[in-house]
Amino acid sequence: MSKELWDPKIETKPLNELKELQLVRLKKLIQYVYNNNKFYNKKLKDVNVKTDGIKTLRDIQKLPFLTKQELREYYPFGLVCTEIDEIVEVHASSGTTGKPVVGSYTRNDLELWGDVMARSLWANGLRKKDVLQNSYGYGLFTGAHGFEKGAQKIGAMVVSISSGNSKRQINAMKDFNSTALACTPSYSMYMAEVAEEMGFDPIKDFKLKIGCFGAEAWSEEMRNNIEKRWDIIAHEHYGLTEIIGPGVVTECKEKKLHINADHFLTEVIDPSTGETLPPGEEGELVFTTLTKEAFPAIRFRTRDLAVYYEDKCECGRTLPFQSRIKGRSDDMMKVKGVIVFPSQIEAALMQVDGVSDNYQIIKTKKGNITSLSVEVEPTESRYKDGHLDDLERQAEDEIYSVLNLHVPVKAISPKTIPRSTGKAKRVIER
Ligand SMILES: [Zn+2]
Repeated sequence: MSKELWDPKIETKPLNELKELQLVRLKKLIQYVYNNNKFYNKKLKDVNVKTDGIKTLRDIQKLPFLTKQELREYYPFGLVCTEIDEIVEVHASSGTTGKPVVGSYTRNDLELWGDVMARSLWANGLRKKDVLQNSYGYGLFTGAHGFEKGAQKIGAMVVSISSGNSKRQINAMKDFNSTALACTPSYSMYMAEVAEEMGFDPIKDFKLKIGCFGAEAWSEEMRNNIEKRWDIIAHEHYGLTEIIGPGVVTECKEKKLHINADHFLTEVIDPSTGETLPPGEEGELVFTTLTKEAFPAIRFRTRDLAVYYEDKCECGRTLPFQSRIKGRSDDMMKVKGVIVFPSQIEAALMQVDGVSDNYQIIKTKKGNITSLSVEVEPTESRYKDGHLDDLERQAEDEIYSVLNLHVPVKAISPKTIPRSTGKAKRVIER
């Protein structure tokens, strides 16, 4: 027996009923954190919101935001609302710019995580008979663990290979008949390269049909390339350690990122004023976890820019959806007065025949002035054809048509940009 949706009752709940459910849960949440955590208690008292201060969903706007900076201050367990011994699993984000953010989970939180991930993977087409090659790095990162829990809840086989050792990845993909691959999008492209070097044809020699990609900003154009390279359907996954890890959204067949809104309440704000924006307008995503026990987040500012929609979707889900992430507001660059996101440059490059998926944006800062240049690897065959200045000019023209900005492009020899088995480093500072 095969069903279309993992949880039809929730996934097709009329929007007004869904919002009622969100309100009930939000009220409960505010009471819960007020009574169980001294920092939240103080935060709420500071804005004069008591346990009965929430009457409508809009009242959430009375509450203060939660920032990444605060999470670092409360490291590691300052925002935990249960007894510490209720926590059965912890994860953490990388601490490259300070203390890491710690995600703590009770047994119920893990149950919830497995369920939203199952919902997400089910929507991607993963079923019991499938074999998921889990090539996200296992460790403190949430990624690999979320995918494992969701896939196992569905009953699929998980090959918990972790990231790296790419030849072994390809052998495992062949020997275990992997039908789904979970990793960063850039790593999937690198794996295709390795498969070819090993003498395999990525399309003919493997059973792969689904890609579950995330943890990295990637353009629609990159998605198309990956789909062609492996002959798979590539799905986007989005999540954050601060919220739950992957599983915040469910991407359907229409490639709409439905928000698992029964558990996560989304707002979009103007990043400069903090004002809430209506659906359809681009701004910074802000999430509130409605049902988590150990570490509830209230109005967490993600710094990710996207649009929130409450429109109908062909897939039949009534869950609201968000656009793909335009970029983290941290990644935004201002060059000669023009706002630039790395993903826009990627999208432009992918329009040019003969440009491979390996590129790097070089950011140079002189005083207050930022300038950009791009290095791209041509495909092997395009490289052999020579006249690379033509390729460079085409790429510059494409970038100009997107950004209205001249960014010099240099074609370099294939396979010179370092490959990554996790998040690709697309922007480097020189
Ligand atoms: Zn949909």
